[in-house]
Amino acid sequence: MMAEILRGDSVSQAHEVVVVGSVNADLVIGVRRRPAPGETVLGSDLATYPGGKGANQAVAAARLGGRVGILGRVGDDGHGALLRAALAGAGVDLSHLLVTEGPSGVALITVDPGGDNSIIVSPGANARLVPADVDRARPMLAAASVVSFQLEIPIETVEAAARAAADAGARVVLNLSPPAPLPDGLLALCDPLVVNEHEAAFLLGHRGGPADLAKELLGRGPRSVLITLGADGALVADAAGVTAVSSPKVEAVDTTGAGDAFTAALCLRLARGDDLADAARYAARVGAAAVRRPGAQSSYPDADEELPA
Ligand code: ADP
Repeated sequence: MMAEILRGDSVSQAHEVVVVGSVNADLVIGVRRRPAPGETVLGSDLATYPGGKGANQAVAAARLGGRVGILGRVGDDGHGALLRAALAGAGVDLSHLLVTEGPSGVALITVDPGGDNSIIVSPGANARLVPADVDRARPMLAAASVVSFQLEIPIETVEAAARAAADAGARVVLNLSPPAPLPDGLLALCDPLVVNEHEAAFLLGHRGGPADLAKELLGRGPRSVLITLGADGALVADAAGVTAVSSPKVEAVDTTGAGDAFTAALCLRLARGDDLADAARYAARVGAAAVRRPGAQSSYPDADEELPA
């Protein structure tokens, strides 16, 4: 039976995936060479894209046909309107996308012809998503099947929302990106903790073979672990052992936001009852689809698209 949320006098279906996270405008300028300190260089026209790990995940899961909500904050500026429109266009429920006086989060990105970039993130409204916002969103978090987190919002807010979700029986998925230390207790709620090899090394304080990293991470307390390995796919580790998941072979054009597409697809399949390894197999296909096209949200597949196998 499907859970329902009562909102005023209207009844709507509970979300399969709720994303608690960042919403940013990506401001991108192509340059021949990235500037050295004190230097000014001329670049291309400015391109503005909807981004932020939270919004990327919400859009990716909604495009795949999921019932998706987001808890986040945008500013009352022009970027906020653009970001809201991108989420609405994908069908994400915006009833908990809050508006803060002041600027939205932005990422200032310069890209050189070799594809190397320099990025400055200004959190803006994302930094104002506070634990009190979690209290108001509690019914949405409690009714969700899976609640997904990344670390571009204040860690106290991640902690409060993850506890609210877990206490109500929702499954917590946390992507340690960008890498940051986790407060005691938060790791134990993750099912799975999703990391790439750099994030795994950050958490453990050393590098190593992926299977060893996965086992060691599991020993730190999460219920399960998923390590993404780019073109090499992913590793899943839980009480049943370590399982390798391969990635379809595709021509990679742009890997921006591929990790967000992967995590979103994973969450959606977990919400629909897949076990972790099966959900990861589907997520690897969605991640591979996303690297075939440029951009983040613009590269995400629709539910009816044939995925690489
Ligand atoms: P992040 O972007 O967070 O560092 P990865 O680079 O591991 O994460 O990529 C996330 C997922 O995207 C991978 O697990 C895989 O499914 C997919 N992916 C990334 N790069 C490629 C590639 N070159 N070919 C196929 N799939 C890819």
